[in-house]
Amino acid sequence: MRLHEYEGADILESVGIPVPRRQVAGTTEDTLHIAEEIGYPVILKAQVLVGGRGLAGGVRTASGPDEVEEIANELFGREIKGLPVHKIMVCEKVDIARELYFGVTIDGYAGKPVIVVSTEGGVNIEATARISPEKIASLHVHPEAEFYPYQARTLLRSLGLSRRLLVSCADVLVRLYRVFREFEALLVEINPLCVLTSGGLLAVDAVVEIDNAALSRIRQPLPKPLEQIDNPLERKGQEIGVTYVDLDGDIGIISSGAGLGMASMDIIARKLRPANFMETGGGITEDLLYKCMELIMMKKNMKAIFINVYGGINPIHEGAKGVVRYMKEHHVTLPVVAKALGNHQEETWDIFRSGGVHVVTGAATESAVERLFELMEKEVSP
Ligand code: GDP
Ligand code: MN
Repeated sequence: MRLHEYEGADILESVGIPVPRRQVAGTTEDTLHIAEEIGYPVILKAQVLVGGRGLAGGVRTASGPDEVEEIANELFGREIKGLPVHKIMVCEKVDIARELYFGVTIDGYAGKPVIVVSTEGGVNIEATARISPEKIASLHVHPEAEFYPYQARTLLRSLGLSRRLLVSCADVLVRLYRVFREFEALLVEINPLCVLTSGGLLAVDAVVEIDNAALSRIRQPLPKPLEQIDNPLERKGQEIGVTYVDLDGDIGIISSGAGLGMASMDIIARKLRPANFMETGGGITEDLLYKCMELIMMKKNMKAIFINVYGGINPIHEGAKGVVRYMKEHHVTLPVVAKALGNHQEETWDIFRSGGVHVVTGAATESAVERLFELMEKEVSP
């Protein structure tokens, strides 16, 4: 779960990292009130869960009420990178001398957290890694070990920081690592961490992404995950308890595991366009698969559905009942192809067939998708 910038900024502030004076507005009127309170010039920042808002027109300066009104109206009325703007964060505008990058994430290869710092802040860190890798320094930390100020100083000294700036940056970095640990984050990022012309430091942007599996362990108050999701289909996915990623095609996919789901998606994409990635995990019931069908059919102009489930701990015959019940109740005429192997497979096939589902009994996802391709060709040229 990725937090909004204003939520991330509150967390950074709670551990003592300096952040700008700011307040969040939900209407143009609020935006104006807050701007008056903070004092001009202000920065208006669209609160959408995506990076690169600056370049997309979502971070703007306003030097007076007329500009605030104009920009707020514009932002509330448009999308930033496809996401609607429901909130604007109003911040004091500061004078920036330098922009740094501080981040902590998990290095999946090393199996450890990695702390990444760069003297090139405000830009995409991946681009810096390509173009000027010497401007980045990183350090792996053992997940259970402390991260000490002297380690932070050594790391930052390697980028050429010194004296007071070195000490104050190291302090921020140690605090940022504390956020990473305490919130069991997958990613925390300050980009940019600004050195002000007045000499102080200020975290001007905040990214905090928390591992959903850790939510129940975190003691600090957190926003409700459902409030974080802007896409109605992804929100429904979260409500019914499946992993759902919305894509822009028209072939729906239901799978019982991430591997099956990825394989289905990739192989289908050779000729057709997946509408989604969906994975139920180990909780299949009749009701759940009924709801998965409901979710897929929320999308307009779907052309086919591909089901790829494995019956290990999952009762796939129960799931099949849900799919077929949905198809009967809603008179689904789209081609539905299913590959279902494992426990109760014969029973599952019978149930699927009774509802008009095309069952593929082979073990390879390729051959099941091939069947989908054949059916779709028939659809186009009957
Ligand atoms: P992002 O594009 O989504 O990462 O949004 P950011 O919050 O990082 O804002 C984009 C850029 O706006 C930053 O990199 C800064 O250069 C600039 N910016 C944000 N706040 C201020 C400010 O108070 N003063 C100045 N001069 N620039 C700011
Ligand atoms: Mn940023």
